[in-house]
Amino acid sequence: MSTGEDTGRRQERLAAFGGTPAVPRELRTTAWPVVTDADRDAVLRVLDGGRLVSDTNGATAVSDLEERWAARCGVAHCVATSNGTTALSTALAALGVGSGDEVIVPSLSFIASALAPVHQMAVPVFADVDPGSFTLDPASVRAQITPRTAAILAVHLHGQPADMDALAAIAREHGLAMVEDAAQAHGAHWHGRPVGSLGDAAAFSLQVTKNLPTCGEGGLVTCADESVAERARMIRQFGEVITPGRDRDYVSHLLGWNHKLSAVQAAFTLSQLDRFDAYEQARQRNVAAFLDRLRPLPGLVVPTVTPGSSHAWHILRLRLDATAAGLDGVQPAGFRRAVHRLLRAEGVPVSRYQVMTLPDQKVFTERTGFGDGRPWAGAAEPPAPHDTVARAVIEDSLTLQKRHLNPDAGEALQRYADGFEKVWRHLDTVRHLAAAS
Ligand SMILES: *Cc1c(COP(=O)(O)O)cnc(C)c1O
Repeated sequence: MSTGEDTGRRQERLAAFGGTPAVPRELRTTAWPVVTDADRDAVLRVLDGGRLVSDTNGATAVSDLEERWAARCGVAHCVATSNGTTALSTALAALGVGSGDEVIVPSLSFIASALAPVHQMAVPVFADVDPGSFTLDPASVRAQITPRTAAILAVHLHGQPADMDALAAIAREHGLAMVEDAAQAHGAHWHGRPVGSLGDAAAFSLQVTKNLPTCGEGGLVTCADESVAERARMIRQFGEVITPGRDRDYVSHLLGWNHKLSAVQAAFTLSQLDRFDAYEQARQRNVAAFLDRLRPLPGLVVPTVTPGSSHAWHILRLRLDATAAGLDGVQPAGFRRAVHRLLRAEGVPVSRYQVMTLPDQKVFTERTGFGDGRPWAGAAEPPAPHDTVARAVIEDSLTLQKRHLNPDAGEALQRYADGFEKVWRHLDTVRHLAAAS
């Protein structure tokens, strides 16, 4: 006969060894994005409205989204693009970054941060990140500047704004363009100012997993300067000048692409934008309560918020410190692998996100580029990557993605916290697994 004591023992046994998982099945998937009838109606209105092309004269879902996002960011201009990567390359191109230039990017980011300069024929130069904020380390940026440096691309990684005061000072001192990669940081602030308004131009992604999603792919460029916005619009549409009230003349004035956003994608995001603040507030509460429970666990380093900023919590990255956990001599990767395995068995959906630093990616070690080695071939050899901290972070950390974005994820996050606490009650097992891995 099963007694309460048996149940208790089964619950306390690690799920990896036959115990009851801390996270019940029904809490393992929380939907993101949340799709409501309002979103469905918004998309259907576009389909029925006959304005599917994004460059038609007069207001479209695309121009509505551009206006609303510019106002939210407190800047004069927003130019919508087909995705976050084209938003980045369009921003760089509009600022005149191109062949023969170097762009300083962080060693720890999503690959697109370093691909966008290459798409512009510029050479990415890798600077290291700060071990606490995971954003560009200003001292490393300063050390990577050469006579060819044209821009700093600051990534607000995981939703934490980069140190824009220190980076803007470096940019000013050296006459560099300052571009924000805000793909993970919609709604975050730096000293009261929204991301998207902190550099010469900024790029956002509306990709379906991001904090402000569309039902597929999309991007937004924001900037204060009218001529930068004008160039971005031309680059987005074949180098043409589109003038409201005048027929399109099909004249290409400069090298352009087709980076336009579809009206359906824009309408979906506009509808999501109506609920963005409510979702954001719920997320702040849910994540705060989750991190409060993890913080006391020895050797688990929870993300912090840089003073004077607000964090969008796109990704939660947790570092592991074996010494602080009382596991002296256990290697960081071994500790990470053991915790990863035990948490996954408990139903906690942790993952690594990146498995290598950006400069270690083949595209940057092999430098095939455009087939003939450009933009590296024929260019001066860029400074060697700075990536010591980025490497350590990748080695000793695990992330939570997507699941916590849903405003109703609070309950799931509490069960995840149960899973962490349970694994931390079995650090002896963690030590054995870490040594064996
Ligand atoms: C997602 C992302 C991008 C690229 O956005 P896409 O819309 O996927 O092209 C760029 N930078 C960072 C930091 C991202 O997370």
